Amino acid sequence: MLNKEIKNILEKSKQWGWVLEPDAKRIFSLSGFKTPKYAVVKKPAEAVAAARKIGYPVVAKIVSPEIIHKSDVQGVVVGIKDDERLVAVLERCRKLPGFTGMLIDELAKGVELIIGAKNDVQFGPMILLGFGGVGVEIYKDISLRMAPLNKDDVESMMKELKAYPLLKGYRGSKPVNITAVQKTMIRFSTLMMEIKDYFKSVDLNPVMCDEKSCAVVDARIMLKD
Ligand code: ADP
Ligand code: MG
Repeated sequence: MLNKEIKNILEKSKQWGWVLEPDAKRIFSLSGFKTPKYAVVKKPAEAVAAARKIGYPVVAKIVSPEIIHKSDVQGVVVGIKDDERLVAVLERCRKLPGFTGMLIDELAKGVELIIGAKNDVQFGPMILLGFGGVGVEIYKDISLRMAPLNKDDVESMMKELKAYPLLKGYRGSKPVNITAVQKTMIRFSTLMMEIKDYFKSVDLNPVMCDEKSCAVVDARIMLKD
């Protein structure tokens, strides 16, 4: 059975047609995924307190039901190092349409993967794995499977990617924890089956993976009408 808090978030989000990033991160965190430490703030004093607690450098991102692609409106600032810059970013975010708050994220590191799901009318949740970041649209290096996934499915999905060597550590870069990628994918597939009555599509872009673990850095859940 679906966790009650997850269900409440999904129900509440129907008014916007999608789940905003902090709520989506909460859903993933309740479901056992790692996320960067984060806080949602509205005022300068709150922002400063939260960033000091999380630890600089931080990332600041606009939270607004009217803004789905945050970078498109300069709504993401990575690597903020001090209070002054943070407050300046907040002042700018407050002027963006539909401002409800600003997310402050711990700075994550690693290889950027994209993990997604499309809820097909006929086949149910289809799971996608690919390399994230700006390259997604250019290289179209992705693999797809029908959920639920098992370990072998995930293994073959990873090996299907042309950029697979990047996961194994390419030219001196550290290898990614493959077991963590596998576990994240299986967990994702399980959650997608659990919420299949609610969503149209889900994008975790990026999930950042390093030699230790994978963290959900951005999450968006588009809901059924
Ligand atoms: P959107 O996809 O809505 O434009 P994201 O939350 O994905 O916004 O942020 C845009 C980019 O900023 C990400 O692809 C990632 O490269 C970087 N980024 C966002 N949050 C973090 C974070 N916590 N740590 C490191 N990089 C981040
Ligand atoms: Mg994103």
